[in-house]
Amino acid sequence: MYQPCSHLPPQEVQDAIAMHAVEGYPQEVCGAWSLQEDGSWKVHRWTNTLPPKQAHHRFVADPLEVLSLLKAEDQGSLSLEGFYHSHPDAPPFLSNEDLRQFLHHQRPLYPKQALLVVGVKPQGRITWGIYRWLPSTPLAHDRKPR
Ligand SMILES: [Zn+2]
Repeated sequence: MYQPCSHLPPQEVQDAIAMHAVEGYPQEVCGAWSLQEDGSWKVHRWTNTLPPKQAHHRFVADPLEVLSLLKAEDQGSLSLEGFYHSHPDAPPFLSNEDLRQFLHHQRPLYPKQALLVVGVKPQGRITWGIYRWLPSTPLAHDRKPR
């Protein structure tokens, strides 16, 4: 399942994503970040294809933009580190809608990448939520006592 984690991307990536989220407010913005071959970080802004009214609380990334990034990773020219989107006027939790987008039959479409959610409030106040996929571990009561 997706678990909250405390490991945010590097500051320059956070700054670029925060700027995107604030510029896009009150619509949801979306994108990804990657590590380039030369060791530099890059933030890729995707287009939220929904009309403005729907885009306040949902996003659908332009599939061609997504595809071109997945292709670049396939070719080894970058390492895709995570996906982000914003929650205007809402806390940075993974919503059921988010899980529907990133899971297929309860399995993650992108198990290696982090999911970053950016809560945005008026005046550009930002809160972060970052989640990583952890394969399910046995529950505590399944373990033998020592
Ligand atoms: Zn969301």
